[in-house]
Amino acid sequence: MRPDFEKGNGLVPAIVQDYQTKQVLMLAYVNEEAYERMLKTKETYYYSRSRGELWHKGETSGHFQYIKGMYLDCDEDTLLIYVEQIGAACHTGCYSCFFNEVLPYHFSQNIFHDLYDVIADRHVHPIEKSYTNYLLDQGVDKICKKVGEEASETIIAAKNNDKEELIGEISDLFYHTFVLMFQQGIQVEDIEKKLSERHQIAGNKKDFHQRGEY
Ligand code: AMP
Ligand code: ZN
Ligand code: ZN
Ligand code: ZN
Repeated sequence: MRPDFEKGNGLVPAIVQDYQTKQVLMLAYVNEEAYERMLKTKETYYYSRSRGELWHKGETSGHFQYIKGMYLDCDEDTLLIYVEQIGAACHTGCYSCFFNEVLPYHFSQNIFHDLYDVIADRHVHPIEKSYTNYLLDQGVDKICKKVGEEASETIIAAKNNDKEELIGEISDLFYHTFVLMFQQGIQVEDIEKKLSERHQIAGNKKDFHQRGEY
C-alpha cells in the first residue's frame, strides 16, 4: 500500500498527531522521497512547499518527531502519522500548530490528568472547605484509610450487584488513589507507563494475566 502521489501532483497531506494524547500537532506535505525516508528512519520528513525542498523535521530546531505509527485514509491520498514529539511541533514554539482559536472549544484531553491537575492545584492554591485540602493536611495515614474504605465500599457495591453504586464507589476509589499518588509524588504518567509496559507484555504473551502476580 502506497500513498497516491499522482492525485496531488506529487504531494500528499499528512496529519500529525501526538501518539499518546491524539492531539493534532501539525499538517504538512509529503512527497515520495520524504515518504521513503520516513519508512526507513522512523523520523518525519516532509516537503516544504515554501522552500521547495525536502525537510527533515527537527533538523535545525532539535524538535524531532519519532514515528510510532502511520496510516493511509480510505482513498489513500492522505497520511496520518502518530509521533512522539520532542519539544514543540510548531516553529513558533507551541506544542501544536493549532493554537489560533476561531470557534473556541475547551475540551478535556483526559479526565484523569485533569483530576490530578486539580489536586495539585489545591496544594499550591488551597481553598477553604476543600475536601482535597483537608485530606492533604491530614496526611498519609488519613488518605490511606480513605483508600481502604473506598476499596471496601467498591467490593460491597459489586456484591450488591448495583452498577450505579459501583460506578460511584470506583470513582471515589480513583479520586482517593489520586490524592495518595500526589501526596507520594507519583504522577499519572508513572502509572500510564507501568500499565502500558504490562499491556505490551500482555499483547505478546497471552497468559500474562493468568500468572496472578498482582
Ligand atoms: P525544524 O524542522 O523544526 O528544525 O524547523 C525548520 C524550519 O521548518 C522552521 O524554521 C520552519 O520554517 C519550518 N517548520 C518547522 N516546523 C514547522 C511546522 N510545524 N509548520 C510549518 N513549518 C515548520
Ligand atoms: Zn482521502
Ligand atoms: Zn506551526
Ligand atoms: Zn465511597
